[in-house]
Amino acid sequence: MTIDSDPAWGTATRGVRAGTHRSPEGEHSSAIYMTSSFVFDSAEACAARFAGEEAGNIYSRFTNPTVDAFCDRLAAMEGGDACVATGSGMAAILATCLATLEAGDHIVAAHTLFGSTIGLFNNYFGKLGIRTTYVAPENVEAWKAAVEPSTKMLFVETPSNPLTEIVDLAALGALAEENGAKLVVDNCFCTPALQRPLELGAHIVTHSATKYLDGQGRALGGAVVGDAETVGNQVFRFLRTGGPSMSPFNAWVFYKALETLEVRMRAHCESAARLAQWLETQPGVAHVYYPGLKSHPQHELAARQQPGGFGGIVSFDVHGGRDAAFNLINGTKMLSITANLGDTRSTIVHPASTTHARISAEDRARAGIGEGLVRISVGLESADDIIADIRRGLGGHQDG
Ligand SMILES: *Cc1c(COP(=O)(O)O)cnc(C)c1O
Repeated sequence: MTIDSDPAWGTATRGVRAGTHRSPEGEHSSAIYMTSSFVFDSAEACAARFAGEEAGNIYSRFTNPTVDAFCDRLAAMEGGDACVATGSGMAAILATCLATLEAGDHIVAAHTLFGSTIGLFNNYFGKLGIRTTYVAPENVEAWKAAVEPSTKMLFVETPSNPLTEIVDLAALGALAEENGAKLVVDNCFCTPALQRPLELGAHIVTHSATKYLDGQGRALGGAVVGDAETVGNQVFRFLRTGGPSMSPFNAWVFYKALETLEVRMRAHCESAARLAQWLETQPGVAHVYYPGLKSHPQHELAARQQPGGFGGIVSFDVHGGRDAAFNLINGTKMLSITANLGDTRSTIVHPASTTHARISAEDRARAGIGEGLVRISVGLESADDIIADIRRGLGGHQDG
């Protein structure tokens, strides 16, 4: 039995109910199909399946019932017609690009993208003859100026990491449309609980399921969501042949985690907003970056574009540069010092010496990532405890 989605359902309902594939055993919670291949009653049936004359599973690099259940549920939440699951978030980006681009094509991308995405574009696509031009994410005019006749893809993350700049997705969707290009949005920071790029004009959404979709720091995975031709056919055929497929076990972890995505994201957003407001009142803090703050230059755009909430990532500059930032981080006791994000556990990191250490000091300064910048991925601990831990860190700095 399969329960597909109902277009009238809200995101929370889709997360709990969409993509329910129930076996004849009648299990209430979904089963895990840990199998690499599938068997047939006869040589004829096997031949018909391979010839595509009969629908069904052949081999789990192509399709698997647990992976399909995760894909159906995520597609319903994002509002897409097709979804392909991959072994990691990077594999989702790799599959999307290799399936849709060819030598001579050009990408316009935000310069604030996840570091490995920039590495993939520069070090690997570059040598295949696919060029990338980087622009400031929030500057629509810069995107327009960077588009060339060979531009086939616009690639963004919004809010940006770590400064939470907001990209106007409707404007970029229209720009892509006018130029025969596709707008690809890495929706890792928001998830469909907060923002649905396909409804705003994006053509493809990619995910690192490793972050908020799991939300508990357990498994690596990724996904691509979009229309039936681009994702259901082109990206799927690349997956079948290229093989960056998702493990059924990981698919089950993500599938179950989607049931709590909406409530988890709401809690992340609530605590992040409280933390951001509190930080703005602290004398040791020079500036707070959070789209939910009235002081954020794109607060209105964020409110329109992210109806589910402003997200769980808060960054801020402390007075006193790197020493002050390190003192703050070392002064916390509960927060995890790690570059990962989207976990139940709050994490704290110094971007200039970790996630953004590979770019030159000059480029970092131009991007506004200073030595006093600290990024927090707000977890699901009590907000009071998160604030108390950061107060301890800030206090450590003030004491010397
Ligand atoms: C982590 C991350 C990725 C890569 O995902 P993996 O699952 O680690 O491969 C891509 N984009 C963003 C925004 C990320 O945070």
